[in-house]
Amino acid sequence: MSWDHVPVTPADATAPAAPTGAASAVPPPSAHPGRASTGFAVTAQDGEKARAGVISTPHGEIATPAFIPVGTKATVKAVLPESMTELGAQALLANAYHLYLQPGHDLVDEAGGLGAFMNWPGPTYTDSGGFQVMSLGAGFKKVLSSEFSGGEKARTASGEDDAVAEGKERLAHVDDDGVTFRSFINGDVHRFTPEISMQIQHGLGADVTFAFDELTTLMNSRGYQESALERTRLWAIRCLAEHARLSADRTHRPYQQLWGVIQGAQYEDLRRKAARDLGAMDVEGWGFDGFGIGGALEKENLGTIVGWVTDELPEAKPRHLLGISEVDDLFTAVAAGADTFDCVSPSRVARNSAVYTRTGRVNLTGSRYRRQFAPIDETCDCYTCTHYTAAYVHHLFRAKEMLSSTLCTIHNERFVVRLVDRIRAAITAGELDALREETTGAYYGTPR
Ligand SMILES: [Zn+2]
Repeated sequence: MSWDHVPVTPADATAPAAPTGAASAVPPPSAHPGRASTGFAVTAQDGEKARAGVISTPHGEIATPAFIPVGTKATVKAVLPESMTELGAQALLANAYHLYLQPGHDLVDEAGGLGAFMNWPGPTYTDSGGFQVMSLGAGFKKVLSSEFSGGEKARTASGEDDAVAEGKERLAHVDDDGVTFRSFINGDVHRFTPEISMQIQHGLGADVTFAFDELTTLMNSRGYQESALERTRLWAIRCLAEHARLSADRTHRPYQQLWGVIQGAQYEDLRRKAARDLGAMDVEGWGFDGFGIGGALEKENLGTIVGWVTDELPEAKPRHLLGISEVDDLFTAVAAGADTFDCVSPSRVARNSAVYTRTGRVNLTGSRYRRQFAPIDETCDCYTCTHYTAAYVHHLFRAKEMLSSTLCTIHNERFVVRLVDRIRAAITAGELDALREETTGAYYGTPR
């Protein structure tokens, strides 16, 4: 396949391109009557930055810190929405890119929005699609892994800005107006701009949406990070304008929050600048309702980078950290001032027989589980652990039975949701440090 025939808007480095199809005047924030009843309130603080709070949405409240399980294609794989409610999930996050390709955001809109379509009555998030557009098939997925798997560094190329893994074709091309990419399903060429991402997310109808941003990797040069960050800033302005227009047009739908995404990779000055720029951004009275912290992070720098960003962001707005669920990362992120998190890991590893326990992550296919006629984790209160033995789930994996995925996903999602619930309670009680020491000590063998 060649890119030669793909029409790409010429780059314009000096000004944002005119929003395609956007009205010239931005309507006032009062244009959507539901906006006033959404928001965020901090209810408790512990230490310098850890905080508990409540995010209000038209589909209910989210007590923070909160872990938001991922249902990429409008389903948490292998698990009923009722089970997600039962295990304590307060909200679910779906993916704009996947739902745009299949079944299409117009169809989800017609169905009454994401929650109605998938029979999930609670709050929903969608990401902007930028991560998948720019990472799927591009070969650097491991570095950008949404699993954030323990600081894994897959250096597939040597410092090139256009790095593509051997044997992979780059599927996305970025210009100042947007991104042209090929569908991972059939290779068709598509284009996302900030306006199109907002139109897709408004069609999907999630309570929390994210601005379209450019994803970079730790392999990109400093110069490239700077130009990408400026593109993301200009795209954020365009997202706010399009979000304002769509909100005013769609008052028959509940108000959808728009959160800006902070990039800047590992550079302190870029991260702080991005947080200040987006934190203060105002388009005719419209500012961001919250913020996402995205992009390339190494595990050892997680707390430092989140700390730079939360230093600069407004205190009164919620902050979402994209793509973490590891036990120590959750404590680190909360201590640095993050409020919500999402990650595909709990369900992805569950389908591969890996489960979290109080004393660490284990694989249930191991022979030691063959006769463990006791729960996966004696201290877990999930449906799986209160009804089934590890020996039975071991058998299901060995026999390649589908129920294995269901039972382990329920367990893993409950493990992370419950841990974050305990973190929230500890913040309110002023006992976060003690919980961290106890929990990470049991999980890793030594406190982290
Ligand atoms: Zn369990």
